[in-house]
Amino acid sequence: MCAVVGIFGNDDASKLAGMALFAMQHRGHEACGISAGGSDDKKIITIKDRGFVRDVFAQKEFNILKGNIAIGHNRYSTAGGDSIFDAQPIQAKYKLGEISVVHNGNLVNKDKVRNRLIDEGSIFQTGMDTENLIHLIAKSSQDKLRDRITKSLTKLKGAYNFIIQSRSKLFVVRDPYGVRPLSIGKLKSGGWIIASETCCFDLVDAVFVRDVKPGEMLIFSKEFDEPESIILDDTKEFRPCAFEYIYFSRPDSDIDGKNVYTTRVDMGKALAKQDKDLKADMVIPVPDSGVPAALGYARQSGIPFELGIIRNHYVGRTFIEPTQAMRNLKVKMKLSPISSLIKGKRLVVIDDSVVRGTTSKRIVKMLKDAGALEVHFRVASPEIKYPCFYGIDTPTKEELISSNQSNEEVCKYIEANSLEYLSIDGLKEAIGTNRNYSMVSFDGDYFIK
Ligand code: AMP
Repeated sequence: MCAVVGIFGNDDASKLAGMALFAMQHRGHEACGISAGGSDDKKIITIKDRGFVRDVFAQKEFNILKGNIAIGHNRYSTAGGDSIFDAQPIQAKYKLGEISVVHNGNLVNKDKVRNRLIDEGSIFQTGMDTENLIHLIAKSSQDKLRDRITKSLTKLKGAYNFIIQSRSKLFVVRDPYGVRPLSIGKLKSGGWIIASETCCFDLVDAVFVRDVKPGEMLIFSKEFDEPESIILDDTKEFRPCAFEYIYFSRPDSDIDGKNVYTTRVDMGKALAKQDKDLKADMVIPVPDSGVPAALGYARQSGIPFELGIIRNHYVGRTFIEPTQAMRNLKVKMKLSPISSLIKGKRLVVIDDSVVRGTTSKRIVKMLKDAGALEVHFRVASPEIKYPCFYGIDTPTKEELISSNQSNEEVCKYIEANSLEYLSIDGLKEAIGTNRNYSMVSFDGDYFIK
């Protein structure tokens, strides 16, 4: 997951990057960081730490992070660990000067590249695949940074969005399949913003310009008013990630021209179309991620929508906790039912996805304990059968409940009266058939090898 942001040409660059990271906190809260520099070739300074943006950054930090170029990162680990060494940006000095890099995605050939670099004498400071790019740039024999980046990218395979800052320029790259989202906005106070999600544009007062194209490199420099655009690779099919729409992105973001909220509502509608004969008294979302799909389901089916489960917002995401025992406790701390509303009722409960089955099992029990007559669990995405290696944090195949058990077995395990998932065709109908979305978690089509 992770969020990346780049700001170019604004004296409040670090502050704007901080605000954008705050708006994209949902993409990762293990660690965050900002590098800033730029104006008059100012030195790049990086501040990063474990924790939320609001805890790591305050006025004191922004006073240190001067300059009109900044990059920022929220971390949710898919490669590397959760130590401070694995926070981004990664800043380094090399032959041509100084650079700092942030990355959202996952490089599938990271170990091969890393081992080769180590064989050749590189000393790695972190466990992150992002560091491969820095070493490749540093070792390149090209005279210009842009050529060093371009050459280095030919050695990397995977889903990636990189934003690279030098003392005077900002480089932005989206992988040739365009798996992870990346958008460009113009700041009303001057300069540019590039960010994982458009939901941060409102907060920094930016106007959406366009999405970065798959395989495109953009170079922002003070010599030009507009960024220079270079298409590095247009030979690949555009394969944006369907999971951005299902779970990751904020509902107010438009990802590659499609709004996340309305797409989720459409997923709920498609789910209800599969379910014509179900008799129930109310549709209840698992908050917050199941809310838009539950609205769609309710609209399509005519069954009333109710907020039967209330979420405590002061608890982090359950998925992040390392042990199973802790995960169970967290679900309980996070969600509680409105007993008087659901007692004696037949419920359709909608969540966006089932990964290990922990959340759904706990929710069914919670609702039955609260007096629900029937709990029909509905999932607004297909069965997750395969781990994703393109920048999503998924557990191993062994831990994915739908990878190892039939729907009947899962239904029994979670103790629901019935269980249905959105079909792959239903997902395609909701998300649109104009693009060949990456659905690797559902169909195992590992198109980047
Ligand atoms: P589980 O309890 O393991 O079945 O996880 C299901 C819950 O995790 C759902 O409520 C989803 O909203 C959420 N979820 C799905 N994918 C992810 C992910 N990659 N990271 C964190 N949470 C997720």
